[in-house]
Amino acid sequence: MKKEGVYHQSNKSKHVLNAHCWLKILEKFHLAQVLLAALILSLLFFTIVNAEAGSPKIVILEFHGMKGGVIDENLKQLPNFQELIKGSHNDQAYVHLPHVFTTIPAASVPTMSSMYTGLLPWRTGIVSTIWFNRHTTKVRTMISYSQERINRILASNGVKTLFDYIAESGKNSMTTMLIITKGADWSIKSGVFFWGNSALVGFFRNGQWIPDSSYVDQNTISAFLTGHILAYSKSLTGILEYHHTIPDVMVVQLLGTDLFSHYPPRELKEQNASMDKIQKHYAQTVLDPLIGTLISSLKKAGCYEDCIFILVSEHGFTKIGKHIPDDTLDRTLKNCFKLPDQETSNQQAEAVIMLGASTKEIYLKNRQSGNWMDPPRLLADVKPAVDLVLANSDIQHCMNTLVIRQYPDERHDFMEENGHWWVLDWKTYQATDKNDFSFLQALRPLSVLERRFELGKYVVRGLRRQYTRETAPDIKVINKKGCYFERDFDKYGHHGSYYPSDCIVSFWVAGPGLARILPGRHILDHAASTLDLVPIVAYLLGIPIPQGLDGNNPLENLQSKRIGKSQ
Ligand SMILES: [Zn+2]
Repeated sequence: MKKEGVYHQSNKSKHVLNAHCWLKILEKFHLAQVLLAALILSLLFFTIVNAEAGSPKIVILEFHGMKGGVIDENLKQLPNFQELIKGSHNDQAYVHLPHVFTTIPAASVPTMSSMYTGLLPWRTGIVSTIWFNRHTTKVRTMISYSQERINRILASNGVKTLFDYIAESGKNSMTTMLIITKGADWSIKSGVFFWGNSALVGFFRNGQWIPDSSYVDQNTISAFLTGHILAYSKSLTGILEYHHTIPDVMVVQLLGTDLFSHYPPRELKEQNASMDKIQKHYAQTVLDPLIGTLISSLKKAGCYEDCIFILVSEHGFTKIGKHIPDDTLDRTLKNCFKLPDQETSNQQAEAVIMLGASTKEIYLKNRQSGNWMDPPRLLADVKPAVDLVLANSDIQHCMNTLVIRQYPDERHDFMEENGHWWVLDWKTYQATDKNDFSFLQALRPLSVLERRFELGKYVVRGLRRQYTRETAPDIKVINKKGCYFERDFDKYGHHGSYYPSDCIVSFWVAGPGLARILPGRHILDHAASTLDLVPIVAYLLGIPIPQGLDGNNPLENLQSKRIGKSQ
């Protein structure tokens, strides 16, 4: 195998250094002793070199917000992706996972947290992008300048990340532009300066103060390779120079696809372009050339032949069909419920409503006890709020389903509770005179969603395992496809819904280093999950797969059973 360049030069320089030391030793010690020492040293040296040459280097390329199928369906027009996946002679091994479900909700913060821990939201504690904690009466959002909020929540909940597992096995990892860094040896973060620059570039290039997506991705790749501003020592080149190693796992989060899909350029908007077309355009014009840069840089570093690339995405995307003003429900509820404002704290409020996207969450206080941890009364607190929601024509027009939280063994009025949620058959209820009896009559088990959503079973499972007792809302409005609550009506695309375009992504496992572990080409014929990333990486590294995760290793048995078909 031809291997030159920095990766091996560092070992060569170690060798030169050793030879230099031996000369000094020769002056002082007996020849036999020196020969013995040299023999031990050279044995050790060859063991290290051989171990390094054989061990895979895993590069996780996360294309944030990329819909399922964008790379798969356009591979012929993406020459660098094609080389990365199939090899320059079309002879490389790969595994294609065309059907990968994200966790619910398909929004960045909760899905990333679940993907890099292998645990569902109710176990990571990061249950959404924004939520109300009934116990502390505080609203939690995960956006912070220091970018440490997610790491702190994971640490306080005792949740381990992929990087913790890697460190425990004696291997090392680096991340670029990823907010989840707990356990990683080296992390390059973005920071205020980076986002300021990208917004400035966005303003000059596109006339809007939105970070320019190509600036973000180009600088992410260069940060990964050589660092930006002060991060040289944490970049691949810096780590090679200072630590003489290539990290075993390297994660590069490319946020551009998400930015570009939320705010595509004017030409594409004027064409009324589909989300597939928008993302294909971005993949061809920005991502594919960057993959070319990545390939040539890793070849120069001498580690390309050992690389296994995992191409992932944490959620998909949908073109917005209808915007609903985000304060619609606040305006509707405030006539009968005290909402938080300048004079009213969350503790004093009777209802707290979250910012929404494809769903809207309403938290209700038990107005009799005044305690947020007491379940609200079904007829005295929940029903009046539901009646107000249903009276709004905008909501009626956009709503697919309304679900109501249950509190088994905690609330004993009128109805037996034995699940997590009821579905309100709101159309039937609307047709009645809306008395208490017809409200209770309209409550159905959550399983009826299996008939209302194409991904019914997945939606039911996801809803059951999203919230903890402290973070569960009482009413959840779930929109029709393409309807999004928004403050910014210029937004063209969004995500977070329960429909396939947001919830199904595709993964690839490929690269020159894969054949040593899993030869041949495979297309997975069953669905996988973003929760499977941690087990997949553990399997490829040959380290124990962590116990008790919600994800599985879908590559297990591929080699022996050969269930995938060759292409
Ligand atoms: Zn987004």
